[in-house]
Amino acid sequence: MKVLITGGAGFIGSHLCDVLLGRGHSVMILDDLSTGSMSNVEQHLDTPDFTLAIDTVLDEMVLDRLVSECDVIYHLAAAVGVQLIVQKPLHTIRTNVEGTTHVLNMAQRYGKKVVIASTSEVYGKSSKVPFSEGDDTVSGPTTKHRWAYACSKAIDEFAGFAMAKESGIPVCVLRLFNTVGRRQSGQYGMVVPNFVKQALNGDPITVFGNGEQTRCFANVADVTRAMADLLSCPAAEGEVVNLGSNSEISINDLAHTVKATLQSNSEITHISYDEAYEDGFEDMLRRVPDLSKAERLLGYASTIDLEQTILEVAGHA
Ligand code: UDP
Repeated sequence: MKVLITGGAGFIGSHLCDVLLGRGHSVMILDDLSTGSMSNVEQHLDTPDFTLAIDTVLDEMVLDRLVSECDVIYHLAAAVGVQLIVQKPLHTIRTNVEGTTHVLNMAQRYGKKVVIASTSEVYGKSSKVPFSEGDDTVSGPTTKHRWAYACSKAIDEFAGFAMAKESGIPVCVLRLFNTVGRRQSGQYGMVVPNFVKQALNGDPITVFGNGEQTRCFANVADVTRAMADLLSCPAAEGEVVNLGSNSEISINDLAHTVKATLQSNSEITHISYDEAYEDGFEDMLRRVPDLSKAERLLGYASTIDLEQTILEVAGHA
């Protein structure tokens, strides 16, 4: 199959590209290199089944050509990282909503299937864990920029299903939970690469808030394998599917695990959310996916443990 990945030079997109090429598919990437990087995909530059367009999903001519040539679109191009989202909320809303609108319009024009990469942020601050795909989403006030990200991705999901209903194109939404692995940069504030870098440098490991908030960290290899499996899963069309890990850990315990795994002498310190992000920043206390739908539809299982993932992020495995 010929697959277009928007945001394909990003952390998750580039791993998806590796998996799809490895399975014999042709991959076209569209990426503006805003948070993606050439170094993520340069290993494929001489591969005949690989093409790269450095451009934005907002460029209609480029998108038209690529969508007309592909069989299926994985739409990953988006503003990512809580730090970036808080710093540039308007950019976040525009990139996500306008970008997805363009991709869906083009998919409609050529009758192509679209897989929209969404996020666990959509569940917001719901306290009903684990989060199942049919659960209500609970957003915060519109004055708090973090929720603009969650709502922009929720609009993308609504738009995808609306397009499917009105034009008949197949659409699937994947809600990715915290995903970690090789090539992930700490530049955009994600906790595991941040902690790994701090531990390797012997700098203080900075836990935001009291550290009792929990997350579940999945290895990008598990997540992108499941994303690729979707190509042969028509039953997932019209569905939202969670992908991630359900092994829950507090951020305090994560800091200790990183320190122990990398045998670091770093001290662990705490910084208030206000200082780390912005005044009045709201975090979610627990975030755990219900993975039963992914198991049922895709045979999905998270197989790589956190210690192994930490070693990979550190470049030690
Ligand atoms: N966090 C932290 N130190 C960091 C970066 C993040 O303690 O250097 C916390 C953050 O406040 C959140 C959790 O780690 O509670 C996960 O943050 P991340 O940005 O990786 O993902 P999120 O789950 O918030 O989207």
